[in-house]
Amino acid sequence: MGYGRTPTAVPNSPSRMPVQKFWIRLEQCVRCGSNPKLLLAGREIMETMRPDHPERMERARLALMGLSVGDAFGECFFGPAQVLQLARSVRTLPPSPWYYTDDTEMALAVVEVLQHAGHIDKDRLASRFAERYCREPRRGYGGTAHQILRAISEGTPWQVAAGRAFSGMGSMGNGAAMRVAPLGAYLADDLVAVIAQARDSAAVTHAHPDGQAGAIAVAIAAAGACTLPRHPSLGWQLLDLAIEHTPAGPTQQGLHKARALPKRCSIDLAVSALGSGSRILSEDTVPFALWCVAQHPTDYEAALWLTVSGLGDRDTTCAIVGGIVALISGPSSIPPSWLAAREPLNWGQNAS
Ligand SMILES: [Mg+2]
Repeated sequence: MGYGRTPTAVPNSPSRMPVQKFWIRLEQCVRCGSNPKLLLAGREIMETMRPDHPERMERARLALMGLSVGDAFGECFFGPAQVLQLARSVRTLPPSPWYYTDDTEMALAVVEVLQHAGHIDKDRLASRFAERYCREPRRGYGGTAHQILRAISEGTPWQVAAGRAFSGMGSMGNGAAMRVAPLGAYLADDLVAVIAQARDSAAVTHAHPDGQAGAIAVAIAAAGACTLPRHPSLGWQLLDLAIEHTPAGPTQQGLHKARALPKRCSIDLAVSALGSGSRILSEDTVPFALWCVAQHPTDYEAALWLTVSGLGDRDTTCAIVGGIVALISGPSSIPPSWLAAREPLNWGQNAS
């Protein structure tokens, strides 16, 4: 069809107006000498963006705030366990600044992609991960993450880079779970979308189904944190919701185990039953984190002190717990002194 031809009228077509606007804008684009592909991309983004995008982004940013403060808080406590126990007993905070790690770096990339596209565009997300990695590779990335992100930054398709990890099994690590709470918050009213897009957000680095299962569990809990009524048993309800929607496998088995623990069992018993991320796997990280949320769903400080006392991969367990509990208890639950201690977030050029 030539640009000057009037499109055939289609009465009562709900898509008619967007099509007409598209042709008008394309004609303008040609006259101005602009790249039509950019226009097409812009049109796709407009059509997929949800009308309440600003409110969704507000929730995603709240999750990011809780996640990043938790990440930076937990990272401060990679020292002797006795010192941590003493700090916890008198709630003594480490001196600022608290530096965040790869958990926050990757969550920032998730939020940037949501801000731009309103959904998880896997190619864009892989690019953002790689760009952030190249800018600051010393943010505590694991060995496999280094390999995958370096390969993507050098032009290897993410499907190849993620798929060849661990001799072709793909990663079942906790790295997809640690960054996903903002996505669950963004899509909170649509659990089908939460599951599909959490899986997509994981797939660019975690090809193993259980690495993806961890992301689904955390995203579902974050969504429930936004939508379920505030109730004393809310934390356990989030665990139930995660069990219901997480694909079968080691992580889901761990969630079942967490649910079966006595409600007031000690942190030592929880760690011995569930792990606390020492193996850096989804299965020994996500169940413990959601168990910690269930203990203190409305108290950000108490939840984080409990979580960090489980030791293990404490920046990541605290990031997961912080992202979810902040969604339940709101921004005011994060102590201003904690927020001030965390170093400022480094936003990329594509985020507002
Ligand atoms: Mg980390």
